[in-house]
Amino acid sequence: MFLTVGTTGTPEKPATDLGFLLHKHPGRSQAFSTSHGTAHVLYPEATAERCTAALLLEVDPVALVRRGQGKGRGGAPDAALAQYVNDRPYAASSLLAVALGSVFRSALQGRCTARPELPEQPLPLRVEIPALPARGGAELVHRLFGPLGWASVTAEPVPLDEHFPEWGDSRYVRLVLEGELRLADALRQLYVLLPVLDDAKHYWVAPDEVDKLLRAGDGWLAGHPEHRLITARYLSRRWGLTRDAMERLELVRLAEADGSEVEDIDNAVDEGQDTEERPVPLAERRREAILAALREAGARRVLDLGCGQGQLVQALLKDLAFTEIVGVDVSMKALSVAAKRLRLDRMGERQSSRVRLLQGSLAYTDKRLAGYDAAVLSEVIEHLDLPRLPALEYAVFGSARPRTVVVTTPNVECNVRWESLPAGHVRHRDHRFEWTREEFRTWSAGIAERYGYAVAYVPVGEDDPEVGPPTQMAVFTTLTADTTAATDTTPKEGEAA
Ligand code: SAH
Repeated sequence: MFLTVGTTGTPEKPATDLGFLLHKHPGRSQAFSTSHGTAHVLYPEATAERCTAALLLEVDPVALVRRGQGKGRGGAPDAALAQYVNDRPYAASSLLAVALGSVFRSALQGRCTARPELPEQPLPLRVEIPALPARGGAELVHRLFGPLGWASVTAEPVPLDEHFPEWGDSRYVRLVLEGELRLADALRQLYVLLPVLDDAKHYWVAPDEVDKLLRAGDGWLAGHPEHRLITARYLSRRWGLTRDAMERLELVRLAEADGSEVEDIDNAVDEGQDTEERPVPLAERRREAILAALREAGARRVLDLGCGQGQLVQALLKDLAFTEIVGVDVSMKALSVAAKRLRLDRMGERQSSRVRLLQGSLAYTDKRLAGYDAAVLSEVIEHLDLPRLPALEYAVFGSARPRTVVVTTPNVECNVRWESLPAGHVRHRDHRFEWTREEFRTWSAGIAERYGYAVAYVPVGEDDPEVGPPTQMAVFTTLTADTTAATDTTPKEGEAA
């Protein structure tokens, strides 16, 4: 089974740049052993004008059966013979997608250490897969690839036997995609859509498949008209997982739709209270308190989880003690506002090497977040439904496990002091809850206990003798030097592949 990816170029912009993007030298043929056989990468042509890379997967059918993966749809074992005589070795399928994901991992992630500017540039691409199993036929291939920015999508049915046209077509098509796309986008589409078209996933679908799907689908899946079919098939009709993925896509869409409101309402409330007695807005005091806690902890590499529109990231950047700052948010819209605020595109190299914005949901573990000194959750927890909070707790305190975690949240007792806020109302309509000081302390103490952290509480804003401060802050510090992150050997983004 194989696929080719080709591009064209000029002497100034040679097509052989493809080799940098794929992290595979055009002058060599390379072989990689994968769990299902050997993957070869070679370049049938490599000139400045035209360069084509081929990924060829030599599947070991016996190994497949031994691994219990020669099974048919639904996981039922096929008849004995069919286990050995099936199309797995020949057709492009989910196995090819898996090989693509591992052999071209950096390219899929849009990373190119040698030429960092390359992954961002759309290239004239031509992808060909001579034998693509497509349940749903050419028509479905068009529905899936059609909305993804290709100038042309060709899906020719492959006849069952060319000598006997009356037998009709096989379930294979020859797929050719042509258009100007970024290589990473093209590869991520293939990574998801090959198994979707194959619809006979060869391995047991594990919960982390949802993460893989959402990561590979970042930027194109949520808005795809066929996202339901794609999600359901990719997850092999495991409805629990599918529902989970659908929920998360929905969350992405919602966040995209209303991301910009967060700041306005939050600040409007602050101003209502701050104008007379307090020259410094509460949001600013919060940032100062967080920065002070981070400095005191000696943190250098910091995560701002639920960074919103990037105000704290901006403040962190001004202090050179912070060497690496990563803003994470579920909302693309908030992130794009943050990118503008930070002028990411016009930043000098030294500054831009210190900062990154990532899209991701905090309700799921994320390997990219492991190994940092500190994480901040500023006014974020109250945006999650209470039943989802334990998932965030695990993702942050259990999985990412930074040495220090700073959490701020409104103190609901203080709301009676806000004249503009009707009694019993939360401060922002997206707040799912607001806690009293006691509720926050109970929650924090539970986390400290379960995950092995010590916790200290810091009032932010004027600490009213009766109702307490408007913002409550907890600073968690790990009790043990060990981090579960140490067992994670995945290279962090930005490191060489
Ligand atoms: N930290 C910023 C923004 C707080 S608003 C500040 O202090 O001003 C809450 C932010 O959390 C929003 O940007 C929202 O998009 C983000 N958010 C909500 N749920 C999230 C989730 N599950 N994963 C990641 N971010 C989330």
